[in-house]
Amino acid sequence: MFDSLSKGLSGLINRLTTGTSVDKKAVEEILVDMKKILLQSDVDIKLADELIARIRKKTLEEKLPAGMTLREHVLKTIYDELVVLLGSQAVGLLGKKRILFVGLFGSGKTTTVAKLARYLQKQGLKSALVALDYHRPAAPQQLEQLGKQIGVPVHINLKKDPYEAAKEGLQKFVKYDTIIFDTAGRNALDKELADELKKLGEQIKPDEVLLVIPADLGKVARVQAEEFHKLVGVTGVIISKMDGTAKAGGALAATSVTNAKVKFIGVGEKIDQFELYDPKRFVSRLLGLGDIESLLEKAKEAELKPETAEKMLEGKFTLQDFLEQIESLGKMGSFGSIMKMIPGLGGKIPEEMLEAQESKMKNFRVIIQSMTKQERENPSTINQSRIKRIAKGSGRTEAEVRELLNQYENAKKLMKSMGGAAGLQRGQFKNLAKQFGFKF
Ligand code: GDP
Ligand code: MG
Repeated sequence: MFDSLSKGLSGLINRLTTGTSVDKKAVEEILVDMKKILLQSDVDIKLADELIARIRKKTLEEKLPAGMTLREHVLKTIYDELVVLLGSQAVGLLGKKRILFVGLFGSGKTTTVAKLARYLQKQGLKSALVALDYHRPAAPQQLEQLGKQIGVPVHINLKKDPYEAAKEGLQKFVKYDTIIFDTAGRNALDKELADELKKLGEQIKPDEVLLVIPADLGKVARVQAEEFHKLVGVTGVIISKMDGTAKAGGALAATSVTNAKVKFIGVGEKIDQFELYDPKRFVSRLLGLGDIESLLEKAKEAELKPETAEKMLEGKFTLQDFLEQIESLGKMGSFGSIMKMIPGLGGKIPEEMLEAQESKMKNFRVIIQSMTKQERENPSTINQSRIKRIAKGSGRTEAEVRELLNQYENAKKLMKSMGGAAGLQRGQFKNLAKQFGFKF
């Protein structure tokens, strides 16, 4: 995925981390190569220049932060600056009921509508789809087909009237968590399309307007995002077709300077090839650092509150912390895709096992939510009668409550054993994975 950009950048990081000595000259050389790599992935030259200038200033002109080697400082600065270049984290779609999809013809709208419905489905939300594209003859059937694949209802207006379809869809699906509207596209944002989208927007009053832009547009993505934004008030961008283009970096960087933030990325034709866009995680992967390092990086930046980190390492972490851990795993995407990102684990875990694990996590969450605050903070007080009550309250079995408590105890022990500076190393992450029920 994101092949050329990722290969180029991770090669640089490799050079930086394995080079015998890192001096000013080595940093200069790395920056020259970095600029080349960015331009090759169609990052706008002005953005690339500014980025390189900032890294140079921070690493070569300013004083080295105490306790850091030049090598570490350069690595961290490159990471931080790439995160800035590739955008900030967008807020999710929580509670967004009416979602309008817009974008030019062939950008991947219809496919992405289904991907989003599937994504919401995995989070336990019920969505329904409404076909508003009657411009291209086979479009409603394409949506219908996709809906069938994932078991999500699709409304089509037989008279091929998008405004009627919108009205009917809103009535028909009033009880659903989310209604997603798939509009028509054109080859360009011409007056006809502009009028149609404007009218539909006024009629539907969407809580969210998502613009789909294919990654192969590269830096041109910026103009398109701005045009659509002016017209319909785009609240988020989805970059589709991130797989198989050298220009993905360009599209992301270009969009990040617009008002509309990238919320999701499409990474393949299949319905599940869709991810929440998190620039930090994305950059870690680009640089070949893997998510373990990204976790470390986060801890370093004190985003993982120092108290929490300390508590974890002392083995003092509570069920509340455990719940937060589970939730943040959830936020990072499905358990499977996380495991796949960990070097040495990828692909080794059978699908069914992953699915079972994910639903287990969901149940754990429900169980923890049924506990009192005191129980979460002092799990040792949870005796048999409390287990019974918690099981009843959460609708899970007593055995499951006990299993959760066991896993929590194991994770706690493991955290304690990891104390000290090294933190989560590969082997230890494997251990952690084991605590969550994986066998190697
Ligand atoms: P629309 O005209 O905007 O509705 O676009 P479609 O959803 O019909 O998609 C156009 C083409 O792009 C289809 O062949 C899709 O399979 C393909 N497509 C959509 N998203 C992705 C993606 O993330 N990766 C790849 N490789 N292809 C995609
Ligand atoms: Mg379509």
